[in-house]
Amino acid sequence: MAEINLSPPAMPTGKKKIAVMTSGGDSPGMSGAVRAVIRQTIASGCVAYAVYEGYQGLVDGGEMIKQMQWEDVRGWLSEGGTLIGTARCMDFHERAGRLKAANNMIEKGIDALVICGGDGSLTGADRFRSEWPSLVEELVATGKRREEEVKPFKHLNIVGLVGSIDNDLSSTDATIGCYSSLDRICNAIDTIDSTAFSHQRAFVIEVMGRHCGWLALMAGVSCGADFVFIPENPPSENWEDEMCSVIKKHRELGKRKTTVIVAEGAHDQELHPISPSRVKDLLSKRVGLDTRVTTLGHVQRGGPPAAYDRMLATLQGVEAVKAVLEATPETPSPVICIVENKIVRKNLMEAVKLTKQVAADIESKNFKKAMEGRDAEFSEYWQAFNITTATDKEDLRLPQEQRMRVGIIHVGAPAGGMNAATRAATAYCLARGHTPVALHNGFPGLCRHHDDKPLGAVRDIDWLDAENWASRGGSEIGTNRALPSEDFKTTAYCFEKYKIDALWVVGGFEAFTAVSELRKAREQYDAFKIPIVVIPATVSNNVPGTEYSIGSDTCLNALITYCDAIRQSASASRRRVFVVETQGGASGYIATIAGLSIGATAVYTPEEGIHLNMLVEDIKFLKEQFTKDAGSTRSGKIILRNEKASKVYTTEVIADIIKEESGGKFDSRFAVPGHVQQGGTPSPMDRVRGVRFGIKSLQHLESFHGKSKEEIANDPMSATVIGIRGAKVKFSAMEKIERDETDWKDRRPLNEFWMNLIDVVDTLSGRPKSFRAL
Ligand code: ATP
Repeated sequence: MAEINLSPPAMPTGKKKIAVMTSGGDSPGMSGAVRAVIRQTIASGCVAYAVYEGYQGLVDGGEMIKQMQWEDVRGWLSEGGTLIGTARCMDFHERAGRLKAANNMIEKGIDALVICGGDGSLTGADRFRSEWPSLVEELVATGKRREEEVKPFKHLNIVGLVGSIDNDLSSTDATIGCYSSLDRICNAIDTIDSTAFSHQRAFVIEVMGRHCGWLALMAGVSCGADFVFIPENPPSENWEDEMCSVIKKHRELGKRKTTVIVAEGAHDQELHPISPSRVKDLLSKRVGLDTRVTTLGHVQRGGPPAAYDRMLATLQGVEAVKAVLEATPETPSPVICIVENKIVRKNLMEAVKLTKQVAADIESKNFKKAMEGRDAEFSEYWQAFNITTATDKEDLRLPQEQRMRVGIIHVGAPAGGMNAATRAATAYCLARGHTPVALHNGFPGLCRHHDDKPLGAVRDIDWLDAENWASRGGSEIGTNRALPSEDFKTTAYCFEKYKIDALWVVGGFEAFTAVSELRKAREQYDAFKIPIVVIPATVSNNVPGTEYSIGSDTCLNALITYCDAIRQSASASRRRVFVVETQGGASGYIATIAGLSIGATAVYTPEEGIHLNMLVEDIKFLKEQFTKDAGSTRSGKIILRNEKASKVYTTEVIADIIKEESGGKFDSRFAVPGHVQQGGTPSPMDRVRGVRFGIKSLQHLESFHGKSKEEIANDPMSATVIGIRGAKVKFSAMEKIERDETDWKDRRPLNEFWMNLIDVVDTLSGRPKSFRAL
């Protein structure tokens, strides 16, 4: 263990010194969090430090605590793991270790510490903060530091960021890294699925999660697994019989493959571990299936972060620095969390306490409480999983008179997750006794074929039809952009002919418009006086009434993969700017969030437009940047331009202007990923949210049971859009959203929640703010 360092502390400069550290198990996105903290610190006029190798670096001091410059973190957003290292440090468990750490911090003059790690790391951090005054006192009492030296360091400011692949911290919906890990798991299961299907095999897949079943459950929901074992909610006492009977039933219904997911920490009600090999034996011997075990291991931790983790890491890093700057000695240490779509500060110690409580509840076999201790979302996903795999549970069935024929229709362009939502809706309908009716190829499909080929265009879906749609891209029931107003009469006739009692519509702005039209046409057509809900699904994320549409995450992932490859090429030739054209219609959402996730130099959106002065200033900025980065292996630059940002300054024109004006200092090219952005396989986030929205929407439709047509028509909540709004998932009345929240001309919400994120992109790329106002 290093000796206590007695060099004098750095002289206070009046500038706050903020250090960032990663600790515990690594997770994808940690490097992006470090980048955000360092750049936001420098942008706020403070001095940034990085502590290398977790708490060990803090204890060892010296070179392990380094001042960081803006350029030091260039390109870190797309890197997996943590580039400043992490460690498990025994010394920090001892007071002597923490005393050295305190001394090292005083020596460097550090006022605040941002820690990205799991609950252990955050517990260590809070302990350090609460002990801080006594550590400082001890340094003075033992003559290691003089009273006046420690005066400016009376309080330690700590902020937590949760970096963990397990998503095990209560109080936040997601931890930095969990969606990347889920992505890796789902890729592996999707890959295994095709061989399982070919040979009609069963696969038992073990995933990480010693105390937390989030990865296992979400993988089960995303991949359409048959059975899932998680620590928080062990299966019934006779789980062997239960599992075998579910799997037999699925096989009897015609399923060719079987997937069982076992969390690392899975156990039965008596806390006896449930091992993948035990499950394999049961499937082989009792069900007679050719069964294999795959343990995914550390591939789940590695690789580049997914779009969501990059965004989360960036926004949380920025928020952490703001929290440091706003803190007073009385402010309890915060942890930066996300609730649905909202970045929030919560009490660090309470979050850790809640998390530990879940572990204690599991230990004491209080599983009901353990489930409650996880986020509300977790229980919803558990129910969703169970209902989509239940095929013969009589207790879920509604009485005959409450059962509906639910029309299911896709409208507009395909978006990742549409099929997962439809599969869940179908399985939910069947479990409840409703009839899911597929209206193929959108409204024109319904109208065109109603006479000659009724069975082709309108068809009851059975469980097996939809069973393997969970991971499919595109639209399995076919989609079309046309609106019902093209033929209201035939649409109404078809609704009546096929006895549609409720309508479940999935799609983007066209779907939203279609439902708005149906709602308004209720005055003329009784057939439309049924409950209707829109499940927003579009890569553009421009549906009013929600901050998130299914498919937008898949699009972002496709786009960042594309941009990472382009940047590598741009960096290899050292001096190149790529201007990349993004989709998004008249909404700059995709360009902005992709910009945030790849660290773009600038984003050009339709909302702000592109001006000549903006280009002039951006070229000046690029010249400065290339001078600073001369020879760097990470010098490739990307500007993202939305397809409708300007009629005159096209992507190609901008690339040409930049090249022409670069004075030969750098080169510029343009690139158009086009439909690549719709993505191939939907991302796990789009799949799981599709399932959640799909089921919640059906529950909403069920709530209209017993109401007359007139009552339905007069109830504003009978035509709604489901969506995420801030920290909540909500249904919003179409009537209100159409009137107050929709920019019909530009086909986007009137107030776009993400607009201020353009500032974050600029701050973290160093692009001066005044540019956009010019
Ligand atoms: P993961 O989720 O990957 O397990 P974690 O942050 O929970 O991450 P831990 O190994 O529990 O990982 O903790 C990381 C480090 O934090 C420990 O090695 C130790 O240095 C420090 N730490 C953890 N708990 C404490 C504690 N109670 N007191 C002081 N330091 C602690």
